[in-house]
This record gives sequence, C-alpha cells and structure tokens, in this order.
Amino acid sequence: MRIDVVTIFPSYLQPLREALLGRAIDRGLLEVAVHDLRDWTHDVHQAVDDSPYGGGPGMVMRPQVWGEALDDVLATPDLPARLVVPTPAGRPFTQATAHAWAAEERLVFACGRYEGIDERVLLDARARGITVDEVSIGDYVLVGGEVAVLVMVEAVARLLPGVLGNPRSAAEDSFSDGLLEGPSYTRPEVWRELAVPDVLRGGNHAAIARWRRDRALERTRDRRPDLLDALGPDALDAADRAA
Ligand code: SAM
Repeated sequence: MRIDVVTIFPSYLQPLREALLGRAIDRGLLEVAVHDLRDWTHDVHQAVDDSPYGGGPGMVMRPQVWGEALDDVLATPDLPARLVVPTPAGRPFTQATAHAWAAEERLVFACGRYEGIDERVLLDARARGITVDEVSIGDYVLVGGEVAVLVMVEAVARLLPGVLGNPRSAAEDSFSDGLLEGPSYTRPEVWRELAVPDVLRGGNHAAIARWRRDRALERTRDRRPDLLDALGPDALDAADRAA
C-alpha cells in the first residue's frame, strides 16, 4: 500500500516511521510519502489560509494551494487513490473503515488546520472522479488533521498482510466480532494477591473460549451497549444469550 500525507507540519508524521509501521516500511509492505503543503505556495509568505467568506472567527485553507498540491500528489505514482480528509464533521472512522481501506492500493490524506479546507477543493476532486472520504476519529475537536492521520494509518497498516507477526491478533481484536475484547493476563499466576482466573490456567480450550466470549459480552454490555444493539440477528447464540 502507498500512503501520501499532505500537511503544513511534515514532522508531525514522523511517528509513522517508528516501531511496527517503520518495520513495515523497511520490509516494503508499506510506502509512505509526506508532502509539505507550502511547497505549492507562490507568495513570499507561503500563505495557506485566508479569512472566511461570510465572516466569523478563524481562517480557512486556500483552495488554490490545496488544488495544485492534490493535482500533483494524486498524479504520481499512477495508482488508483482514495482521498481522505479528516474533519470532526465527517463520518465516523471505525474498524470497518480500516478493513475497507486496507484493501486499497493508495490512500492520500489531506490534513486540515484552522477552520478546515475550502469546500471547493473537495467538490473539485469529486467532480474529477476521485473518491473522497471525510472522516472523523471521534466527537471532539483537534487542532489539525495530523494526529487523526496517525490514528487512521496505524489502524489500517496493522491490517495489511504480513505487518502483524500473528494475523490472529487482528482477527481476535475488539470489534472483529462486533464485541469489545475481554481482559488479558500473563505471568505471574498471582500478583499483589490477585490471581489469574483458574479457567485460563486449566488448558481446557473450549472452556477458555467460552470464558473469553462471556467476558467480551459482559464488557460490551457494560461499556458499549450500542455495539450489542448493532449486532445482526444471528450474531448471538443461546449460550451467548445466557451469559
Ligand atoms: N471548524 C471545524 C469544525 O468545527 O468542524 C474544526 C476544524 S479543526 C480546529 C482543524 C482540523 O483538525 C480539521 O480540519 C481536521 O483536519 C482536524 N480535526 C479536528 N478534529 C478532528 C476529528 N475529530 N477527526 C478528524 N479530524 C479532526
């Protein structure tokens, strides 16, 4: 997968080259290019923003600069690309979004700042046949799109084949079956007088699977009942309902 990020703060994206993602880049599983939006300005101040039409506080990112930047970035390399624009006013980014995007060849992220990007940049991209997703990482407002891009790229990249050491990790994560994952334990058996649940030490795989499923149901009911409400009619069996 190829990922391009356009931003006025390229150094904000440096963590993409760390740890798991850095190794994925080194191994050729992921290609990341970060572009400085100011490279497409033509004035001495390298201005990327201007005051909003209609008045109001804050500044809006200028369409000319974004238009030229996206024209160039989308043109090279010649791969089908999805344009992702982080915004608190977008559709929620979820694990399902991450799975869908992991099947793409190329994602191009446009990081907004201030009050966001002039709307015509997105209208123009759509008119040219580019798929544009406006997405939010949560119901709160950040100062810029860079942190949202770090979140989304990490969620997508760990789903790419070969990136995780054990692909079962992603298959058993929270949300994969519509539920939150239950608690995890490691050695020692007793720590500060707290013992690991007996069933996890017993070696009965069916009993362990049942225990894990019950804890996942319990946790989801307690913390995210909306996820249970969203499950399909066949998602829970009789044993689940008894839990
Ligand atoms: N005026 C905008 C609004 O209320 O919808 C908020 C703009 S915010 C201060 C500046 C930039 O931060 C946005 O253009 C976007 O790139 C990013 N941003 C802020 N919150 C975000 C969120 N929850 N999800 C994704 N991006 C976000």
